[in-house]
Amino acid sequence: SPGDADFIGLLEKAKALPSNPKSEDLKFDGKVAIITGAGGGLGRAYALLLGKLGASVVVNDLGVSAHGQGATSSAADKVVEEIRQSGGKAVANYDSVENGEKVVETAIKAFGRVDIIINNAGILRDKSFARMTDEDWDLVQRVHLRGTYKVTKAAWPYFTKQKYGRIINTASSVGLYGNFGQANYSTAKLGILGFSNTLALEGRKNNILVNTIAPNAGTRMTATIWPPDMVEAFKPEYVAPFVGYLAHETCISTGKVFEVGGGWAAQVRWQRAGGIGFPTSNSLSPEDIASKWDVIVNFDDGRATHPATTQEALQQFFENFANAQKSD
Ligand code: NAD
Repeated sequence: SPGDADFIGLLEKAKALPSNPKSEDLKFDGKVAIITGAGGGLGRAYALLLGKLGASVVVNDLGVSAHGQGATSSAADKVVEEIRQSGGKAVANYDSVENGEKVVETAIKAFGRVDIIINNAGILRDKSFARMTDEDWDLVQRVHLRGTYKVTKAAWPYFTKQKYGRIINTASSVGLYGNFGQANYSTAKLGILGFSNTLALEGRKNNILVNTIAPNAGTRMTATIWPPDMVEAFKPEYVAPFVGYLAHETCISTGKVFEVGGGWAAQVRWQRAGGIGFPTSNSLSPEDIASKWDVIVNFDDGRATHPATTQEALQQFFENFANAQKSD
């Protein structure tokens, strides 16, 4: 809970820092960041920004097509070159995120540590559910969900030992809301959010903070769907500063999800209707539920809440038991 001694310590530390830091205060000197899928699109923008701000960057990219085909080292190499040419420190890694331990090993070998993971690599295999093959399903789960898990799993012991880590995972608005033709992708993306929320709880005592973004950016991924004007307007560079802040030691947010893009950003949370407590008896029937359906789905009667933890979510269930006992 927010009363944890560790969390209070973190808050105190953050309060001691400049309250309104100018961008030049948010440096990453001495920090090592792994950015997956950083050979293009959003990942490249994150890598260039963190490199510019002093981080040592591992530019991971398998160099595949937007559908996950082929492989080339040139995508990662180009971004490493860009960072080095502007005076930054970077190395390339060409492994698939499915081999997370190799990605992390590159950071340890080159820079001796790892502080920041930005799980960003991704592919699409869009098809209506009726046409989706097992391969379309599996490949998307493997790259997004298993890849995020594997890279994070390999970095976790380092984070735990040094009592410091920042993880930014990448979901998608289609994971939050669903989208036609993306059953595989939206499943993986919401899975990543569940993963992040649990790691945020497990990591906090060791100062490992985990947040999730649902970005919108004009990249080769969106270029197949969006009109060219929109691709042009939603520059990946508009998302990068948000990720930069989440990756910084002064940011103490954890377990949160944000929609970010086109220079706009907002946190997203769950909302639960006020609900209704039925008598806890075996005589409760489907007809009883039907008769109260309008209450169950009513968000506008002033009783809706925003449960932020499993404990908080359970509270109303327990209250219902207590009320039922009182009326017995
Ligand atoms: P992109 O295709 O430009 O970049 C993805 C990169 O990941 C590519 O360079 C690709 O080679 C790399 N990659 C793919 N599979 C890999 C693997 N197994 N191992 C290592 N690297 C691999 O796409 P983008 O738009 O920059 O997307 C970045 C992330 O943001 C993805 O996770 C995507 O799902 C997510 N996202 C993007 C948008 C958007 O609007 N662009 C919206 C929602 C979510």
